[in-house]
Amino acid sequence: MGRYQKTIFLDRDGTVNEDVGYLSRPEDLYIFPFVKEALSLFNSNGFRLMVVTNQSGIGRGVYDESALHAIHAKMQKELDNAIDAFYFCPHLPDTGCECRKPNLGMIEAAKKDHPIDMSGSWVVGDKDIDVELGLNCGLRTVLVETGYGRSHSGILRRRPERIAANLLEAARYITNRNKPTLPKSSSRRTMSSSPK
Ligand SMILES: [Mg+2]
Ligand SMILES: [Zn+2]
Repeated sequence: MGRYQKTIFLDRDGTVNEDVGYLSRPEDLYIFPFVKEALSLFNSNGFRLMVVTNQSGIGRGVYDESALHAIHAKMQKELDNAIDAFYFCPHLPDTGCECRKPNLGMIEAAKKDHPIDMSGSWVVGDKDIDVELGLNCGLRTVLVETGYGRSHSGILRRRPERIAANLLEAARYITNRNKPTLPKSSSRRTMSSSPK
């Protein structure tokens, strides 16, 4: 049994890779150059990494699940298997499914599959629905300005905790926030009592 672990729920298109619109072939996957560094920063600070992505292109018949899995396999290869799990919603927006962001189905599924420390977990994405997803399940949120982020930062109904230029800036912010703060009073006492 694994211990409860803080997790970064990562949007995919526009956050990890360029949003090309219904990405349907591995050869059209362009991972942003800063992502590897961002993910290793998360890893070295004890975060699990899980992708949560709306993929209505499947419901629309633009591509099928095997194409999606081939894209994720290529992503894992390029990122040295840094992603611990992928969750996707294949449904059309108007079907009222529970999994399409900002609904909570993918997070609920992740919680069934993995012991997750929700109080230390975050959602990072480029759209208002990513911010809404995080806020809807009580997680802290960062909006990145890659993908749709720059335009969506102006239409947000609810604010994320932070707006970051990209995933690496988000990782720096989050890993700094989660560091334990030094007890200032005791360190001051030690300094003042040390002989000069
Ligand atoms: Mg996105
Ligand atoms: Zn769905």
